Amino acid sequence: MVKEKRLSLPFQILIGLSLGILAGIMLQNNPDVADNFIKPLGTIFLNLIKLVIVPLVFSSLLVGIADLDDAAKIGKIGLKTFIYFFCTTAIALIIGLTVANVFNVGSGFTLPVEDLAYEAKEAPKFIDTLVGIIPANPLKSIIEGEMLQIIVFALILGAGLLAVGEKGKPVLTFFNGIAEAMYKVTDKIMKLAPIGVFGLMTPVIAHNGPQVLLPLSKAILAVYFACALHVLLVYSSTVKIFGKMNLKQFYKGAFSPWLMAFTTSSSAGTLPVTMEAAEKELGVSKPIASFVLPLGATINMDGTAIYQGVCALFIAQVYGLNLTISQQLTIVLTATLASVGTAGVPGSGMIMLAMVLQGVGLPVEGIALVAGVDRIFDMIRTSINVVGDLACAVIVAESENELDHSVYLEEMTPSRE
Ligand code: ASP
Repeated sequence: MVKEKRLSLPFQILIGLSLGILAGIMLQNNPDVADNFIKPLGTIFLNLIKLVIVPLVFSSLLVGIADLDDAAKIGKIGLKTFIYFFCTTAIALIIGLTVANVFNVGSGFTLPVEDLAYEAKEAPKFIDTLVGIIPANPLKSIIEGEMLQIIVFALILGAGLLAVGEKGKPVLTFFNGIAEAMYKVTDKIMKLAPIGVFGLMTPVIAHNGPQVLLPLSKAILAVYFACALHVLLVYSSTVKIFGKMNLKQFYKGAFSPWLMAFTTSSSAGTLPVTMEAAEKELGVSKPIASFVLPLGATINMDGTAIYQGVCALFIAQVYGLNLTISQQLTIVLTATLASVGTAGVPGSGMIMLAMVLQGVGLPVEGIALVAGVDRIFDMIRTSINVVGDLACAVIVAESENELDHSVYLEEMTPSRE
């Protein structure tokens, strides 16, 4: 029997994108046709993405906290891991936003906002965001899709459920079921991305012409550049100073997981390779590796954070909206939390970008501009996510005297035979 060969999803999305551009060019004189007949496909796709955000973030965060059962026991290790994860993610965002500002990522073309039926909302002030982060009425936050408040509520409820032990278990099992279902649903929605991207792209091109795509290459370049900078500045220095590890050895050991993540775009899928590399190549003890790495694959996403920062600024600029410093600080806060809620599977960083845009009052429709080439972004962001997990494992292990330097020192000593 001849095995049916199917095109890979990223390739299908690229086809959707190309067809969208082509249809847009052909309909430049008739943009109404694009609006009335093709745009609804894009709108449905976008609504599907929006549909999963709240249940996905809420349930996966709750379950993530539940997995921390041991963290209470491990205490110190948990605290160090958290501090490293959060600090590096916030720095990643600052690097991403700085690079995006310097590159002026979205300059060169401005989409007329009214064409996309987007009304610029008054963006919230940073201090208001901070104060408003604690929801007075969590159900209202859920109904209104206030992401930051939802995240905080999930964290608080998760901590409460952990504290009550056995009594909290059924609730956690329930949300575990929802989280799993949402992963599945996300996976299915992503399968519709080729059609969605086609539906989103066509009207944009029909109204504005294909030159709207030019700034995109700048955004891709900015994300890759910021990721490289993050590795060089943050991982290299922390691994060297706190992990006391030879950098050549670190990157040599991290190479296989890096490559695996680059090609699969899934930190969760790469986890077995990451664990093996941590223990066998980098000398991280098993208990530390099995605590830090699965947690990292779930909540530590520096590459995703960089991507979200750059793309938020890119989309704002393409829409001709200037982001103030306070809005950019809101991005740092929202995207740090968004990257925590990002699942380690392909494409989820883009779904979370919708939340970041929403959080800062930017048009979610802007996702159309970056969705077509998401895989190119996803490859680099996932691989950086995984290297960040490994850097953390090395540092925490060294600080606990659980890093076996002999693993690689032996290898580096020339044999005398
Ligand atoms: N694919 C990424 C990961 O698995 C998440 C993302 O889409 O940013 O780490």
